[in-house]
Amino acid sequence: MKFVNRDTRLELLINCELINRLEVYGKEKYPNEFGGLLLGKYINSNKTVVIKDTLLPKKYKSSRYYFERGSNGLKELLEQYYANEGLVYVGEWHTHPDNAAVPSQTDIRAMKELAEDKNVLINNPVLMILEIQKTDYNIGIYFLFNGKLLQYILAESE
Ligand SMILES: [Zn+2]
Repeated sequence: MKFVNRDTRLELLINCELINRLEVYGKEKYPNEFGGLLLGKYINSNKTVVIKDTLLPKKYKSSRYYFERGSNGLKELLEQYYANEGLVYVGEWHTHPDNAAVPSQTDIRAMKELAEDKNVLINNPVLMILEIQKTDYNIGIYFLFNGKLLQYILAESE
């Protein structure tokens, strides 16, 4: 599926199979929040981010309205993904059980902190939020741009 932000002309590609996997991971933890890292690559002079995979945290804290992932062991795994498949860290995803796929104030703050982290080299980290319900889900995909969280809108289904 292709998502675009018209103002910045930045694009994001992700296949349905991966979104379905994230949905399954999220539903396993329902009604608590869950999430992980997004891995991918940049193409088209860095204007398009292609999301290829996820990395799930070994340790995390979560409740119905809260999710904080640990970072134990992730650095080494990220190095392996880069060496083997050329994939890099491009952002985060988490679920909002029975809540809109819209970033909370905490989410916005966390993304700004991420962009200020000197270990994170990406310019426009992605935040994907899955609104998980018992039988359905919605997706909201955002990215940080000049300190603001902007949204990618669905352009084409696969
Ligand atoms: Zn959130």
